[in-house]
Amino acid sequence: MKGYSELTEVEKKAIWNALDAFIENTSQKKAIYAEAIATLAYYRLQRHPVWRRNPTKTQKNASYKRWKGICQYPPCKDKTPIDPKKKNLHYHHRSRGIPDQHGPDNMVPYHRHPCHTNEHKPKKKNNQSRSARGSGLGGARSS
Ligand SMILES: [Zn+2]
Repeated sequence: MKGYSELTEVEKKAIWNALDAFIENTSQKKAIYAEAIATLAYYRLQRHPVWRRNPTKTQKNASYKRWKGICQYPPCKDKTPIDPKKKNLHYHHRSRGIPDQHGPDNMVPYHRHPCHTNEHKPKKKNNQSRSARGSGLGGARSS
């Protein structure tokens, strides 16, 4: 099995085409606008109990407890728990598109600034392995 980061551009395109075909076929079969089906599919995925892209508050709390609120960005030397009431706590996903992606072993607390910002800032040209990271469905919030 592959996770999101291992998908090739060809595989991503094939999945998009299959999704588009599902929406168009359902639209034809059920006499419902494709736009309505796409909106419903989007809402379903946003709130899906397993596949949702964003963590629930319960999942965030479990991660905070597991890591005692301490930033897990490897270069970070600050071992003080991050105050969840201040706006500098961000939950970072080590991988996306894997089972239990919002579980505490994969989703870890980071300082929003500078740690999470540094983790995701564009890398130099000699490290292109991460450049495709932001592409894909939605592209809204980063990990
Ligand atoms: Zn940090």
